[in-house]
Amino acid sequence: MSFEVRERDLMGKIGVLETRSGRITTPALLPVINPTRLVVSPSLIRKMNCECIITNAMIALKRLPDEAKLKGIHEAIGFDGVVMTDSGAYQFMIYGKLDVSQEDIIRFQEEIGSDIAVILDVPSGGAKNKVEAERAVRETLSNAEKSFSQRRRNDILWVGPVQGSPYPDMVKSCAAEIGKMPFDLYAIGSVVHLMESYSFDILVDVVMAAKQNLPLEKPVHLFGAGHPMMFSLAVAMGVDMFDSAAYALYARDERYMTLHGTQNLSELKYFPCSCPVCLEYTPQELLKEPKEEREKKLATHNLYVSLSEVQAIRQAITDGRLWELLETRSRSHPSLLKGLRRLCEYSPYIARFSPSVKKRAILFFGPESIRRPEVTLHLEKLKTLPKPDEVDVLVILPEPSSRPFYRSKERKILEGSLNIPESVKKKIQFVFKSGFFGLIPEEVEDVYPLSQHLGLSDIPYAKEHITTATCSFIESHDYKLVILPIEDNQEDAKIEEACRKKGVKLVKIQLPGKMKRKWKKLGETIKEIMKSTCPG
Ligand SMILES: [Zn+2]
Repeated sequence: MSFEVRERDLMGKIGVLETRSGRITTPALLPVINPTRLVVSPSLIRKMNCECIITNAMIALKRLPDEAKLKGIHEAIGFDGVVMTDSGAYQFMIYGKLDVSQEDIIRFQEEIGSDIAVILDVPSGGAKNKVEAERAVRETLSNAEKSFSQRRRNDILWVGPVQGSPYPDMVKSCAAEIGKMPFDLYAIGSVVHLMESYSFDILVDVVMAAKQNLPLEKPVHLFGAGHPMMFSLAVAMGVDMFDSAAYALYARDERYMTLHGTQNLSELKYFPCSCPVCLEYTPQELLKEPKEEREKKLATHNLYVSLSEVQAIRQAITDGRLWELLETRSRSHPSLLKGLRRLCEYSPYIARFSPSVKKRAILFFGPESIRRPEVTLHLEKLKTLPKPDEVDVLVILPEPSSRPFYRSKERKILEGSLNIPESVKKKIQFVFKSGFFGLIPEEVEDVYPLSQHLGLSDIPYAKEHITTATCSFIESHDYKLVILPIEDNQEDAKIEEACRKKGVKLVKIQLPGKMKRKWKKLGETIKEIMKSTCPG
């Protein structure tokens, strides 16, 4: 098995997974195929540039055992790409009992020639309480351990499933245990309930609990990902593959998927899509088609939308704009926004995997933007930014109107009126307030992305963001004096408190409101202060 990562953004990656029937580019969506009820034909799915599908081994075992064994699963369902088979755990969850053993199900998946196969896991999602969920985890782990001696072929990629959802602590311990076993891929199960109830915040905790405890170099699959509006969230957390039956299930209920939600076909006057189905029909025409035909057409559209979102995510990773896509999608539904806000809490962890330099500027849209990994990383770096020995005065400057701040007209006016010898200037460190990054020391402003970003700096919470960064900077460095132009009484009081705690002298300066006079006065005042603190 080889899994080669080509590009990264956040915890998302573009990778190539090698299987015995060919390669899959990740992130990949695997449409779920019911071999006994084909809503969209596997050959059409293949034409939609889909490299891999997933089907249920249990259904194949029950309904077409001989055909699947004789011809192999690829020919039996008519798909010449990569075929993943699921063990049937989901059926177990629905019906509560299973009349085949893990040994049978492993043997069958080997006999039908699955490319990627799953051991028999016991879903914790169907458990009535935590005790039952714990039992499901124990049984899954026991099956996982036994599976190695039950296998006969060594050309199939085997998946180690992580159970324990919706309890993040249980997911964490299950992932840690199964992660020690040499599976080719890992999968996160029992999240369908979370998706159906739009509990994207808990979903984030569950997926992150698994991801933080699984081997980093192995691909991770998410079972039952569902709606395309949450694919980017899953990929940002490091999910490489996901399957979805939603395209077909929604179609059965006459539901039309968009990237922002779902609508009933009968509510639509226009199709906001240019897939072949939406070009051929109007909603009114599609409603007149026989039920079965309508379901097929709707499922085809739903699949087009889902697959096109995967392409959009791949492009966003290539551009380093996955966070921007996440913020856009999170505006589709308040529950998704809640999911993104929960993801913000993992920003320091995500920052460890995201590239520190990107091809393009980063974009700031709103309060979630200032919690993106690049900002978190910058704030972390600020704490350990070396301070030259000769520096003992910190000057906190207001945010200039243009970037880079050190070349702004405001900074030039200040420089003109400051007019002090180099030997004195060396004692001062200038830092700019920044609505996006909290605080930017002048000497690092050229480091990506401190000057390579676009956005509206009047983001809510920006003032608080600046104060937090300023206080943390003062706490982690040793200055003798801090000079602070008065801007906001409430926020300035917090900086005063930080200086008091650290035992640093603080001088607050009252400045005029007009730009030119303000920055000129600022330079003159700093000059006076420097004269009185270091005469000569
Ligand atoms: Zn369409």
